[in-house]
Amino acid sequence: MERVATSVLESYLGGRWVAGTGPGAEVRDAVTGEPVTRVSSAGLDLGAAVDHARRVGGPALRELTFHQRAAALKAAAQALDARKAELYELSARAGATRRDAQVDVDGGIGTAFAYASLARRGLPDGTVVAEDEPVPLGRGGTFAGRHLLTTPRGLALQVNAFNFPVWGMLEKLAPALVAGVPTIVKPATPTAYVAAHAVRVVAEAGVLPPGALQLVAGGVGGLLDLLGGRDHIGFTGSAATAARLRSDPAVTVRSARFNAEADSLNCSVLGPDAVPGEPEFDLFVEQLVTEMTVKAGQKCTAIRRALVPAAVLDDVQAAVAAALDRVVVGAPGADGVTMGALVGLEQRADVRTAVARLAAAGRIVAGNPDKVDVTGADDERGAFLSPVLLRVDDVDRPEPHEVEAFGPVSSLLPYRDRAELLDVVARGDGSLAGSVVSADPEFVRHFVLGAAADHGRVLVLDRDSAAESTGHGNAVAHLVHGGPGRAGGGEELGGLRAVHAHLRRTAVQGGPGVLADVAGQATLD
Ligand code: NAP
Repeated sequence: MERVATSVLESYLGGRWVAGTGPGAEVRDAVTGEPVTRVSSAGLDLGAAVDHARRVGGPALRELTFHQRAAALKAAAQALDARKAELYELSARAGATRRDAQVDVDGGIGTAFAYASLARRGLPDGTVVAEDEPVPLGRGGTFAGRHLLTTPRGLALQVNAFNFPVWGMLEKLAPALVAGVPTIVKPATPTAYVAAHAVRVVAEAGVLPPGALQLVAGGVGGLLDLLGGRDHIGFTGSAATAARLRSDPAVTVRSARFNAEADSLNCSVLGPDAVPGEPEFDLFVEQLVTEMTVKAGQKCTAIRRALVPAAVLDDVQAAVAAALDRVVVGAPGADGVTMGALVGLEQRADVRTAVARLAAAGRIVAGNPDKVDVTGADDERGAFLSPVLLRVDDVDRPEPHEVEAFGPVSSLLPYRDRAELLDVVARGDGSLAGSVVSADPEFVRHFVLGAAADHGRVLVLDRDSAAESTGHGNAVAHLVHGGPGRAGGGEELGGLRAVHAHLRRTAVQGGPGVLADVAGQATLD
């Protein structure tokens, strides 16, 4: 076997950078195949990290008001913003083009800024939130009750997926920090070096209280054994890992709070009004191609099922295939490249397997999963894959509703009428995001109301909103990100909802004076 000269990626624990022992898992450059780093948490004292969060980070954060924590978060976002070029450069090693890296890096920084601002405007300059006015509980007016939200003496463990090393970390860190809860980040191995660099930038800026942020590169070992009812576990990744973590005694026995963001077979629907020639037809095609190619389709919200009226299936197929033909796959930064690489060769092999399963239910109508012309890199050493469009005419086949090819892959499916459409959409068993592209308000209303309960977010796209639309796949700080069923059943973001999710709600009962007193810091500026 080839000897690896790379060193083990350092974790940030107890305010120090420390490397695990042992060979660890090797991480290779997605574009060149060269070794980048090794990831191992062997030999690290994760118990001490938990202790540090509880004894140092928690008390330091709880001493600050919501507004002071917001200011610290803003300073962290500014520090990252000033050094984001370093993160772009590292992201390129994970296969990300500049456009991809901006979604992750700028998207993450923007989310942190958004939370700093939401906290200043929507939370008191104190440490307690009074959720409601006192409710009288006696005739004489001497006894009442109200709900208070306070900060638990716990920590937040965040376990992230590989595809958004920066955004995924910041969208979980921001609300935890504002809530006064210290965080331990466990990034996914393939892109842990990007997340670790972001933590390094924040640590070097010295803007967060000690113990507020730690990072463990590698497995979490027995860390979950140390978590319980005051703690929060935020997970993003595959449904299989979500199930494993959800059934850990930390959750099932000791009642740690658990939130899962898992995979999903998101749909985008073309309305019957949007025939070729209508602006919505072009918007649908453009959006689908964007979702297939940004981050080489490694997005949990990407469109996996494109549902179109049976009468225009051939037209959509031809238009999408033509647009995909113009995609230039290659090394991030190389001339003309519009789509980068998958995160690694293993991921490419997984996507090829998934494509083969999908193809068994229909056929590939654009792209070749086994061959792609690559600009500026070697197609075998790098994890490159052609975008692949499939067509599945038999919508009763289970594969398009069950198999997630986590890459630049989407399936076209026909629908005949509205009833069939909602039935087919529901076969995804719960999704993060769905979209409908139509200028027919009646059809849109029918779709949104019929599909809403199966989706965390539904986006309507038409000629009037297109210019300002944030797009099918982009989670927005102010809106909920998550989804029912297969998507994990969790909820993140959603503005201050995510901060409240870290706080604990207590019904406090007593005399009106007491209730005003304990909620004293809760008044808004
Ligand atoms: P994954 O294999 O489930 O890994 C996710 C995270 O869990 C990684 O940090 C991984 O660490 C960790 N992990 C694995 N086994 C664990 C265990 N027994 N205990 C504790 N942690 C464990 O998923 P992935 O391959 O990174 O990500 C791709 C999947 O994530 C796709 O299916 C995608 O749809 C989904 N995803 C969902 C969202 C969303 O917001 N809903 C966002 C992005 C991705 P290691 O890497 O060290 O194994």
